[in-house]
Formats: sequence, structure tokens, C-alpha cells
Amino acid sequence: MSKVPNTPENEAKCVCPRCPTWLTNGCPKEKNELLYCAKGKTICDLPEAGCICGACPMHEEYKLDGMYFCFRGAEK
Ligand code: SF4
Ligand code: SF4
Repeated sequence: MSKVPNTPENEAKCVCPRCPTWLTNGCPKEKNELLYCAKGKTICDLPEAGCICGACPMHEEYKLDGMYFCFRGAEK
């Protein structure tokens, strides 16, 4: 099980849908992707266009290390 619980409450806190990488194309929205630090990597073809995980309340709450969870996968 991952360190970050995959819950609707945590989905609501995730700021991924405001991130430039997430907004590069329509794929993440189409696939309903977010909360990568709990759910794991994206299946979309995305560039590294900037990551705002550091500004996300979940980052502090779960003492997450680093960013780009959409590429790195879930925090263990
Ligand atoms: S730390 Fe990043 S991946 Fe995790 S909930 Fe926040 S914005 Fe989403
Ligand atoms: S994990 Fe970071 S780079 Fe990936 S979509 Fe979320 S905020 Fe953007």
C-alpha cells in the first residue's frame, strides 16, 4: 500500500489539474488522472513542463519527497 491514501478527500486536495505538465494535452483530463503520489504513474505522453507538487497541501501533510509523481509513481 502506498504512503498516500487514495481517497476522494485527497483527490480534492491534489493540485495536479492546475499544473503546466498536466495541462500540456487533454490526456490526463480524459483519463481522469490526478493524485499520482497515491495512484501511480501517468499513462499519458507528457513532457516535464513544470511540477507544482511543492505547492500542494498533500506534499506537506504526507512529508513527500520530491516532485513529478506522474512520472516517478506513487510515494512508497
Ligand atoms: S503531491 Fe503532487 S501528485 Fe500528490 S496530490 Fe499533490 S499535486 Fe497531486
Ligand atoms: S505530479 Fe507534478 S508534474 Fe505531475 S501532474 Fe502533478 S503537479 Fe504536475
